[in-house]
Amino acid sequence: MELEERSVEQLPDRCENCGTELTAEEKATALEEGVSVVLCTTCDAEASRNYKVFRIDHPEVKDLIGLAPKEKYFSLDQIIADESVRRVYLGERFSL
Ligand SMILES: [Zn+2]
Repeated sequence: MELEERSVEQLPDRCENCGTELTAEEKATALEEGVSVVLCTTCDAEASRNYKVFRIDHPEVKDLIGLAPKEKYFSLDQIIADESVRRVYLGERFSL
């Protein structure tokens, strides 16, 4: 495991997921956050869709959108995996 802090020069020039050239701002953010994988803003946002930040307690709501009844926290991707949620509540806000 690498524990040394990286400098801007040591960062990759391109997003490690999609290969897009990174901006100075994206590199600065990567340094600030000390991430191990450097991503462009777009890929970083896509990754965040897998973070389980939504808490849903009501069993009928979980049942309605097909979520595991015993889990409490869900990611955006899990919630919008349900077609009726995408169609009714999200419309075209997210390009799916
Ligand atoms: Zn990318």
